[in-house]
Amino acid sequence: MNKQINSIRGMHDYFSEDLDIWNKLKKIFKQVLNSYSYEEINLPILEKTEIFQRAIGDVTDIIEKEMYSFYDKKGNSLTLRPEGTVGCVRSIIQNNLLYKKKLKFWYLGPMFRYERPQKGRYRQFYQLGVEVFGLKTIDIDLEIILLTNRLWKILGIDLHLMLEINSIGSQLDRIRYQKELVLFLEKNKSFLDEESKKRLYSHPFRILDSKNLNVQHILKKAPLLNKYINEKSLIKFNNLCKMINSYGIKYKYNPNLIRGLDYYNDTVFEWKSHRIGSQNTICAGGRYDSLVQDLGGIKTSAIGFAIGIERLVLLMKSLNIFSIQTEQINIYIIFIGEENKIHAINLSEEIRDIYPHLKIFVSFSNCSLSKKIKHAVESLSRIVILIGSNEIKKKCYLIKELSTQKEFYLIKNELMLKINNIFKK
Ligand code: ATP
Ligand code: MG
Repeated sequence: MNKQINSIRGMHDYFSEDLDIWNKLKKIFKQVLNSYSYEEINLPILEKTEIFQRAIGDVTDIIEKEMYSFYDKKGNSLTLRPEGTVGCVRSIIQNNLLYKKKLKFWYLGPMFRYERPQKGRYRQFYQLGVEVFGLKTIDIDLEIILLTNRLWKILGIDLHLMLEINSIGSQLDRIRYQKELVLFLEKNKSFLDEESKKRLYSHPFRILDSKNLNVQHILKKAPLLNKYINEKSLIKFNNLCKMINSYGIKYKYNPNLIRGLDYYNDTVFEWKSHRIGSQNTICAGGRYDSLVQDLGGIKTSAIGFAIGIERLVLLMKSLNIFSIQTEQINIYIIFIGEENKIHAINLSEEIRDIYPHLKIFVSFSNCSLSKKIKHAVESLSRIVILIGSNEIKKKCYLIKELSTQKEFYLIKNELMLKINNIFKK
């Protein structure tokens, strides 16, 4: 036998067990986003490498080690998108959408990051991304929180998600804060783990995110970013918190919440769940008011978030939501004798013409009749139609109703009526 070739580590095949949940999720995403007048867009999976380098920040995890970049046949460096915001900003600039009024978008698709695969962390994973452009005031920050909160409610998971929120101020605020933070961490270097030591000068904010208990302990005494944030940003943030509160949405103010990408400012937030292990952030986002300009557009405020679909599915599964078993097959057709195959195919086509929503399965395998019936039962089929030479001679079909174990003969018209009665919505 030839050696088997497997998929790339951290990249998975998805089967109907998961895809059924994905499709239901997508339907609900669509419905909720539509109710807020957000429009769906589809963006390329490949972009020029330089766009991510310019937007995400040189010393972030993504740029330093997570990008799938390669040269095409002309020597251009291309990258499989590690996230969706940058491509979306590129697109709205390129298509002159900034001059239009409708600037609320969403997309769903695969992202790629060369990370260490583990539960909830993969190399190809899917995100639902939402981006809004041109709105400066915190009303849109509130709308985004209300929208995500509504999603969790409709999905039935709101009690298992907690909102964490922070303001990271302006870039200038963060430069001033970074100096103080680095001074503090230098003084306490002996308490830092190897990872944090490496980040001390390249990306000290990531240390705030460290899972190491010693580091977390020492961080309790570290200077806090909120002391360095400008007055205007602080007022905006306090007002936003009040507004969120007034809608009865519980949140935790987390002064150490920073995002892994450089382009954020002011509001940042994450929705987390305790039920899915250590990779517990299901949805993350924030404001990025300078990115459009950084990528060559006119100065435009912006805010967005992304939901990690696999992590959301892990949570849905842990709560058994959407897991009600549905019929995998509605009508199972068995022909007895090769000469009757054509009658089975023709009947299945006729049923599909009249009842396009039904799942009809014609058994072509050459296993025994009892095995076929067993398969029909396992696939939760409602009825089995048997076609043998006897039935063809009598111009009728033998019907087995699996739930009642009843058997009866029907001519074609009666069969169609019966199907209508059983499966009418
Ligand atoms: P994390 O701290 O979990 O690495 P991040 O800051 O890198 O998250 P974002 O870039 O904000 O994540 O992505 C938004 C969401 O996409 C995350 O909250 C998570 O649900 C999901 N996500 C990010 N990276 C992965 C991955 N490698 N595998 C699966 N889901 C992911
Ligand atoms: Mg990450």
